[in-house]
Amino acid sequence: MENPEKSIFDEFIQSKGIFKNKEVLRPSYTPRQLPHRQNQINHLATILVSALKGETPSNTFIYGKTGTGKTAVINYLGYALESKGKSIEMGSKEDFAKLYLDGVDCDFQREVIDTINYCGFSGFFGEDIEEELKLPINFIYINCQHVDTQYRVLTHIANHFVTNWTSRLPLTGLPTDEVYNRLRQNIDQEGGVTTIVLDEIDKLIYKSGDDILYNLSRINLDLKNARANIIGISNDLRFTEFLDARVKSSLGEEELVFPPYDAEQLLDILEHRAGNAFYEGSLDPSVVSLCAALAAQEHGDARRALDLLRVSAEIAEREGAKVVDEVYVRKAVNKIELDTVGEVVSTLPTQSKLVLYGILMHEGAKTGKLTTGEVFDTYKELCRLSGMSVLTLRRITDLISELDMLGIINTRVVSFGRGGRTRVIQATVPVENVKDILTEGEPLASLQNVRIKVQATLD
Ligand code: ADP
Ligand code: MG
Repeated sequence: MENPEKSIFDEFIQSKGIFKNKEVLRPSYTPRQLPHRQNQINHLATILVSALKGETPSNTFIYGKTGTGKTAVINYLGYALESKGKSIEMGSKEDFAKLYLDGVDCDFQREVIDTINYCGFSGFFGEDIEEELKLPINFIYINCQHVDTQYRVLTHIANHFVTNWTSRLPLTGLPTDEVYNRLRQNIDQEGGVTTIVLDEIDKLIYKSGDDILYNLSRINLDLKNARANIIGISNDLRFTEFLDARVKSSLGEEELVFPPYDAEQLLDILEHRAGNAFYEGSLDPSVVSLCAALAAQEHGDARRALDLLRVSAEIAEREGAKVVDEVYVRKAVNKIELDTVGEVVSTLPTQSKLVLYGILMHEGAKTGKLTTGEVFDTYKELCRLSGMSVLTLRRITDLISELDMLGIINTRVVSFGRGGRTRVIQATVPVENVKDILTEGEPLASLQNVRIKVQATLD
C-alpha cells in the first residue's frame, strides 16, 4: 500500500526548482533599487523636499509610455518621504526634551526621563507641544484606472485621514460639494503637507472630465492650516491637450518625462531583479539579454521584459527543466502574445465574435482571398446555427473595420480585372487557438463542431 504520509505535493515542494522568489518579478513588487532612473528620482526629490520643510511642493505632471518606471519611482519616493517625515518628527521630540533638561541637575533629569518613559511624551509635556512638533507628511497614491470618477477620487482622499471605520464617507450617495468639504476639513485638521498622486490620470479624465482637477488645483485657496500638492502621471503624452487651460497651467508647474529604456538599460534592470528571483545557475546567460533585447524592440517597456523573464522560467519549471534557456523565451513570447489576443477576443461583443469566427473558418479552410461578401454569407449561416439575429451587411462591414483596428485581422483594398476593387480580409492571429477561445463559453459554444461549406469567389 502507498505510504499514507506521502503527499502528491511532496515531490514539488522538495525539488529546488528554478525560482528562489518569484514575487520579485511581479509588477506589484517595488524594488529597492531603480537603475537608470536616478535623474528622475533626483528631480522629483527636489520638488518633494519642500514638504519636509513645511512648504508646498509644486504640482507636477509625469509622462512616459507604459513600463518606463513611473509607478515604481513614485512609490519609492512616497515611501522615502513618509519615513523621512517620521524621523524628523522623532528627532524633534528628542531635541525638545534635551533643551528642556539642559542645565538641570542629574537627579531631576533622571526623574523627568522616568516620568516621560512612564506617561509618554505628550502625557508629560502636553498634547499641544506634540502637535507643534509634528510634521505630518501624507502621501496618498490613487490608481485612477480603478478609482475613475470624481466622487470616488474625492472620497478616497477624504477617507485617507479617517481611522474610525464608522466615520468614513460612503462610496456613493453624497453630493460632490459635501464630499469636497469633508476632504478639505480632513486635510486641514491633519495639517502639514499632503501629496496626492493620481496615477493613470488620463483614464480618469477621459472617463469623467477634468472637473476633479479643477477642484483639486484650487484646494490650497480653501485650506487654512495645511498645504496640498498634486502629482499626475499619464501614459499618454498628449493628454493635457484635453484639459482646460487654467487646470493645465496650475497642475503642470513642473513636467517630467520618463523616456523608454534601451536594451542595455533593460539588461541592467533585469539583472538586478533576476539576482534575487532565481537560484544560481538556473538561468542560461543568454536568457536575460534576449528578454531585454525583445522588450527594447517593442518600446523599451520594463514590465514586458520582466514578464518575458518570469513566463519563460514558469514554462521551463512546468516542463521540468533545470535551466531556463532561449527556447523557453521563444515559448514565452508566443504565450504572452496569445494571452493578450485572448483577452481582446474574449471581451468582444457577440456579433463581432460571430464575424471573427466566420473569418477564421475561411482561414482554416484556406479558401484564398476573402471578401466582405463571403464573410457575410458565412456569418449569416453562423447566426442561423446559433440562433442569433442577423445584422445588416453595412453593420458587418463596420464590425470588420473594428476588428481591423484592434489588430486581430488585416484588411486591404485590392484591384482586380477591369477596374474592380474589393477589400480582402486576413486574420493575423493563430486560427485554431482563437477559434477555441471564441467557442469556450456561450453563446458560441454550440458552434464548436459545426462544419459549413466556406468558399471563395476570388483567387
Ligand atoms: P509604468 O508605471 O511607467 O507603466 P512601472 O513603474 O509599473 O511602469 O514599471 C513596470 C515594471 O518594471 C515594474 O515591475 C517595475 O518595478 C519595473 N521597473 C521599471 N523601471 C525599473 C527600474 N529602473 N529598475 C527596476 N525595475 C523597474
Ligand atoms: Mg504605472
